[in-house]
Amino acid sequence: MSSPTFKPRVEMRTTENLRAFPSRGLLLLLLSVTAILLPGAVSADVARLGNDVVPTFQAIDLVLDADADDYRGAVRVELEVKRATDVVRFHSEGPELTRVALMQDGAEIAASHQAESDEVVRLETETPLAPGAYQLEVEFTNVYDTQAISLYRMEKDGQGYLFTQFQADDAREAFPCWDEPAFKNPFQMTLTVPEAHLAVTNTPIEESKVEDGWRTIRFRKTKPLPSYLLAIATGPLETVAMPGLGVPARVVTVRGQGHLAGLAIEMTAPLLKALEAYFGSPYPYAKLDFLAVPEFWPGGMENAGAITYADRLLLLDPEAASVSPQRSMARVIAHELAHMWFGDMVTMEWWDDLWLNESFATWMGDKVVAEVFPQFGSAVAAVQSTQGILQQDARATTGAIRKPLNSPKDLLSDVGLAYQKGRTVLGMFEQWMGPETFRRGVIDYIEANAWGNAEASDLWRALDAAAGKNVSGAMATFLDQPGFPRIDVELRDDGKVELRQTRFRNHGSESEDLTWQIPVSLKVPKVDGGSTTHTVLLDAPTTVVELGGKPAWIFPNADGDGYYRWRLPSDQLLTLADQAGDVLSARERVELIGNVSALLLAGSLHGDEYLEVLGALADDPDPLVVRSLLGALGAVKTAFVPAELEAPFAAYLRRTLGPAIERFGLERAPGEAEAVSLVRPNLYTWLGREGRDQAVLEAARTLASRYMEDASAVDPSLAGTALRLAAVGGDRELFDDYTRRLEAAATPSDRQRYLNALGAFDRVELRRAALAYALEGPLRPNEIFSPGQTMGSDAAGRDLLYRWMTESYDQIMTRVPPIFAGFMPFVASGCSAERLAHAEDFFAQPEHQAPGTARQLAKVAEQVRDCVALREREGEAVARFLKRDAE
Ligand SMILES: [Zn+2]
Repeated sequence: MSSPTFKPRVEMRTTENLRAFPSRGLLLLLLSVTAILLPGAVSADVARLGNDVVPTFQAIDLVLDADADDYRGAVRVELEVKRATDVVRFHSEGPELTRVALMQDGAEIAASHQAESDEVVRLETETPLAPGAYQLEVEFTNVYDTQAISLYRMEKDGQGYLFTQFQADDAREAFPCWDEPAFKNPFQMTLTVPEAHLAVTNTPIEESKVEDGWRTIRFRKTKPLPSYLLAIATGPLETVAMPGLGVPARVVTVRGQGHLAGLAIEMTAPLLKALEAYFGSPYPYAKLDFLAVPEFWPGGMENAGAITYADRLLLLDPEAASVSPQRSMARVIAHELAHMWFGDMVTMEWWDDLWLNESFATWMGDKVVAEVFPQFGSAVAAVQSTQGILQQDARATTGAIRKPLNSPKDLLSDVGLAYQKGRTVLGMFEQWMGPETFRRGVIDYIEANAWGNAEASDLWRALDAAAGKNVSGAMATFLDQPGFPRIDVELRDDGKVELRQTRFRNHGSESEDLTWQIPVSLKVPKVDGGSTTHTVLLDAPTTVVELGGKPAWIFPNADGDGYYRWRLPSDQLLTLADQAGDVLSARERVELIGNVSALLLAGSLHGDEYLEVLGALADDPDPLVVRSLLGALGAVKTAFVPAELEAPFAAYLRRTLGPAIERFGLERAPGEAEAVSLVRPNLYTWLGREGRDQAVLEAARTLASRYMEDASAVDPSLAGTALRLAAVGGDRELFDDYTRRLEAAATPSDRQRYLNALGAFDRVELRRAALAYALEGPLRPNEIFSPGQTMGSDAAGRDLLYRWMTESYDQIMTRVPPIFAGFMPFVASGCSAERLAHAEDFFAQPEHQAPGTARQLAKVAEQVRDCVALREREGEAVARFLKRDAE
């Protein structure tokens, strides 16, 4: 799956635009675009089926009316009994079985069956089965799910639709099957649907006939697949062809949305071509459909040949799509397409390698987006997202990304790391090995395991063989260990540099000592101008590097590729910061901002010094660097700005950010760089909402009314921001206007803009109204947290959101996708010890616990304690700085 996502979120934020909002990424996990990537929960008791009896082919026949509440079906499974046994077990959770028959050569074998658990059916034969071929036939009835998992029903404009989301273990809720990733075999689906409905699965149609108003469609046999990659969609769907892909391809939407598919169609061919070139082989399946699903909580899901996407990510009005959603769309498409090779054609043996599946797809997807669409600034954005993940990974409660999967709870924890840390570590070692050598290893791995299953160790062997050295041993120090190194860099007078590694720790943290094997890249100036890079593998606690003369400055993470933090003596840090604009690339300047933020948390930099450094960097000419700086200000706001400092903080923002908005302008200039359009909404938000800049607020109100009159008259990159800023100080009439427009929205983006803006009103009665609407209004399961997410930008809003979550907990749980339950403690994030204490009581109650809750709560607790300690440690210095600055 994909999660375009970043902070503890695993990249689950709703839109990139929203990221601009100074919420601390509340609930990113739940909402990310980047949600592209969240794995589904594996239920609490993992009952593995074993290998005595394995399927070799599964035929699935379903009669599906999207306007009904229930359905019936039959499966026929070709089985191979490998060892004599009198037990056949298979998954089925929910379907009512009306016939279960084990057959051999057309004759039924005497057997009885019963439920072994909620999820496993156990069939016992009267006499043991000899090894050989058998068939299992099961008929059943079932009801559709309504919480956006398994085979679920939803309505749009009064019409019913059915979609699926099976990862990780929800195929078994739709039909009986062998529901583990290692059972990889061909499937064949036959769907009978009302004649007026379309039906889509993983393969092209083989045969279709109509009888009595029903259409029966037999689809072609699939290539070998695990059950979690199957997909079904049916209802009054419409399709738009995607030409130029080498296989038949379409975008499939609910009725009336096909005209929004143009941008996705335009982007897909070049992305797919770049991936085919990388893997050295053509797209592996017989057709490709992109399904735009209105009720979808991950960003995308890599079902072979039938990729599902959140509609708001895939369907962009070509006349009105700003850069930010275009970039998100490119990332999610590239991520899911990368899975067609890595994940689908070669599938992990078991869920403990899910992190690799997702790390690789995220790394690969970002790589091709940067290559195909350099104008989106993805190369810089990638470094920015790594900064967020390092912050999360610095906490003692964050585990290693690779670990034995003792319980499915572990699968859910640290899922953001799986996408982002894994991606960065792969990228760091790709650079160290050399991109071509790395690619050779990847291709060898894919070729050796094509159409089958593999484990991470198979990839490591292939990479080591390609490199002719032990790369995997060094990688393992990053993948098997939690946290990351801190490198203290000392530039000696004799021109040698001493590097000393320890574990990076936030101030006061007592995590265990560890050592890494780190490819360190040191950037230094050349005598005759320009710069050069020295790369060294730091595999001991200390090492000394010979530079041949003392350089004027040193930057210890060239190109920002490294997954580590570094510290220079303060005078050298300041020298570097002063020259950053001249000697460092944009990626490196973004890394520098992240690194000084980390030093603040580590207690190695004081709060006033920190604000001083941020102030110096705010003048950066690159909009993407300014954007990254705004992210750092979010942390300052949360930790250091109580009500009495709001005015001085607002003054600091106006002084610091004013030059940037002056340079970039309040409205889009013809032909301006796309990076400028990307950062402008963030500047609006910071200057308007936090900086109380009257000119910006006025401009936003004007844009919002213009947008409500005629959406096409407003720069789409500013529309959502303008609606949210207009809500600051807005009244009930405006609130009601927003809900009316949300419900009547013609496009998913328009709907999302109003949805997010509902949480941006600052009057407390309207904030309450937004939360009430989240549950009582006509929202979809994946939208219920959207208004609240916007509210997380200030302390009062976070309190309100938290109270709503606890008071409405039961009602929320009946509405949202079940996987959300484990992330609920996230709502207690922030800087309030009181709220945390309440949350610890609340989630101690068994009725508020779900898989993952305890782990999530521990993370939130550490984040809050770090924040409270930081405030106590540096609050005074920051307050002094802000007050002095205001004078
Ligand atoms: Zn994925």
